[in-house]
Amino acid sequence: MDPITALLDDVLEEMRGLESGEPAAYIPELADADVDTLAFAAVGPRGRVRAVGDADTEFTIQSISKPFVLALALAERGRESVLQKVGVEPSGEPFNAISLEPGTGRPANPMVNAGAIATTALIVGDDVDTKTGRIVEMLSAFAGRSLWVDESVYASESATGDRNRALAHLLRSHGVITGSVDTVVESYFRQCSLVVTVRDLAVMAATLAFGGRNPVTGVRVVEEAVARDVLSIMTSCGMYDFSGEWLLRVGLPAKSGVSGGLLAVAPSQFGVAAFSPRLDQHGNSVRGIAVVETFAERFGMHLLEPHESVAVPAVRVETTESGRVLHLGGELGFAGSERVVAVLRELAEALPTEAVVTVDARELARAHPAAMIALRAEFETMPSRFRLQE
Ligand code: GLN
Repeated sequence: MDPITALLDDVLEEMRGLESGEPAAYIPELADADVDTLAFAAVGPRGRVRAVGDADTEFTIQSISKPFVLALALAERGRESVLQKVGVEPSGEPFNAISLEPGTGRPANPMVNAGAIATTALIVGDDVDTKTGRIVEMLSAFAGRSLWVDESVYASESATGDRNRALAHLLRSHGVITGSVDTVVESYFRQCSLVVTVRDLAVMAATLAFGGRNPVTGVRVVEEAVARDVLSIMTSCGMYDFSGEWLLRVGLPAKSGVSGGLLAVAPSQFGVAAFSPRLDQHGNSVRGIAVVETFAERFGMHLLEPHESVAVPAVRVETTESGRVLHLGGELGFAGSERVVAVLRELAEALPTEAVVTVDARELARAHPAAMIALRAEFETMPSRFRLQE
């Protein structure tokens, strides 16, 4: 076991003792889950999958399908069309709450059932097979392998899904859904019944973490802008009426499902996922939350921590015959451009006045637009012996 996998394993074993909560009972097939199951996986930028515990145990994706179907709706329809049918405000209510925005009839957001059903309605296709086919294709691309529907969980969901059907009828009465309620609801039940492992979820999370490109298969699944929109909504709404506390404690966009799965995204770093069937009162996995929270803490993943690399870019100074070249590397944020200018001034003072000083920005992995604007503006006010290469 490599040292990072060993650290993940430590986190998992420490949380094994948590025995509170119960598996979801309102879908009979889920109530039979083995409550001792516990798994965790993390996927990094090069697609390396590290998995510990029962990493090959299969379970249905449930609500974790919601962000990925949202990604498909955004890719197919564009942000504005999606926003006409579903909001993006945290509801502060349970996942299956029967509440819509006064006036428009829009559900609060795509992560609660009402909003997810409205999102599934947006997927191209007038029948269950076409809609589900597109959804399965998209989620499979996120996971990097072909996913399939567990027919018995689907049958169980459909047989007990009257609350979701009621929500869909309510949406139709407001014109949020226009076609057949049955088509939409059955497609939604099928998307929730897709079978995954914790590895699959970690790869799906990683695809969002790396801007919509699956780091295992190398395939671009969605545009960066779509991945960013999905992550934004997961950040504010992904954990239902626990989203605020989750953001405070863990600081990562995340999504949970009632079968006990949970995934979280550390942008540009990791996609992670946990699985354990016992749920708390919000419908989130008790041990899943504890594992991801501890992981985020130990690995320093909170999104709102200061990031040195944005403020202090990588600078390598090369001495040439005519003067100096500052080679910039990594990511140049706005704050970083100020640092570059300071280094430039220090260098200039220490050199003879005829020495040429060049800033080479051509090898930056990422340059924030404002950083480049600030750099160019600085160069305009400088004598001509200062040069910017971009
Ligand atoms: N299929 C489940 C439902 O609609 C999904 C809910 C969830 O995972 N929170 O009730």
